[in-house]
Amino acid sequence: MQSKLPDVGTTIFTVVSRRAHETGALNLGQGFPDYDIDPRLTELVAAAMRAGYNQYAPMEGLPVLRERIAAKVQRTYGVPVDPERQVTITLGATEALYSAIQAVVGPGDEVLAFDPAYDSYEPAVRLAGGRCVRVPLTLPQFGYDWRRVRERTSARTRLIIFNSPHNPACSIAGAADLAALAELVERSGALVLSDEVYEHMVFDGATHHSVLTHPLLATRSFAVFSFGKTLHATGLRLGYCVAAPGLTTELRKVHQFNTFSIATAPQHAVATYLAERPQCGTDLAAFFQAKRDRLRTALANSGFRLPPAQGTYFQLLDYGAFGASHDLLFAERLLREAQVAAIPLSPFYQEPPRTTLLRLCIAKQDATLDEAARRLNAFAARATS
Ligand code: PMP
Ligand code: GLN
Repeated sequence: MQSKLPDVGTTIFTVVSRRAHETGALNLGQGFPDYDIDPRLTELVAAAMRAGYNQYAPMEGLPVLRERIAAKVQRTYGVPVDPERQVTITLGATEALYSAIQAVVGPGDEVLAFDPAYDSYEPAVRLAGGRCVRVPLTLPQFGYDWRRVRERTSARTRLIIFNSPHNPACSIAGAADLAALAELVERSGALVLSDEVYEHMVFDGATHHSVLTHPLLATRSFAVFSFGKTLHATGLRLGYCVAAPGLTTELRKVHQFNTFSIATAPQHAVATYLAERPQCGTDLAAFFQAKRDRLRTALANSGFRLPPAQGTYFQLLDYGAFGASHDLLFAERLLREAQVAAIPLSPFYQEPPRTTLLRLCIAKQDATLDEAARRLNAFAARATS
């Protein structure tokens, strides 16, 4: 049978989690917490099911949850959004990204994405009949070269996929980047898909610049968020998209035939949780910054280099001191010799540069991070002796 995605295999996250399971390695690969969620959220989900919220939710999401999300957006970014016409509940951020792409991209369209980029963007573009044009982030800081972005934008550019804080680069976009993006949008007429799932995980006092805070971008963007990240519950599969009414209408046309509607009880639970804990999210920067610093300190003398991590719940690890082998091979070596699973960066690229980087997830118990550091330090000592 002819495949629509002949070059696509199983995602690197699934592959590495599987290998970690097979080998018994500590899994710092796929991004998910290994600690419990807030027990109050567990209670609320159970209570919602017991209360009988087990039939279809409205296609666009429960009104009460969308209202609480609008209030959260207002509190966080100081901008009003209409819950009725601008907020859609989706099956995680993954569905929001996929449905938004299917809603606006068609055959012949180009979609500008950066290199590296989160792995789900490009297959979704191709399934929509579009073509991804990738612009490299500049090394070593993973910054934006806006001149190059402008050169690669054309009348065919339908959508620009932006992601800050950035997975896997762990970099964040500044106000100047948002201004450059807006200028490009104005000039080209392109729309923006802004993946902001790590909105609350920016470190060292930096600010997350949401497209929702920019007057022009707010009218031209799909902004995508995830309760999986914000509530430490990646298995809840609850995300949402905030977009202007016209864009939301188009998004919902796809969403209604893609997932139709999202599990009802978790929507009730999260709506109540947001009312009880309106500040939730605001403590995440300090929480993850402490974890980042703990791991960085523990690895400071290991020989691994630790590039700056400005945001997300990941930390990159540069293994250059231990040879220049391909990152897939080095990840496998680390798995076998250190019993630590990490994600290589090359699968996030269309054209991988010659780097020696792996990604570690820091959304782990302190004890897990300490044990990972102990194993990596022991590996490093063996490798250099
Ligand atoms: N975008 C990025 C950048 C991500 O890192 C992830 C998940 N780690 C997603 C989207 C998908 O989010 P969700 O689990 O809510 O589908
Ligand atoms: N987004 C998660 C990560 O970056 C993985 C999600 C998935 O496995 N699809 O690790």
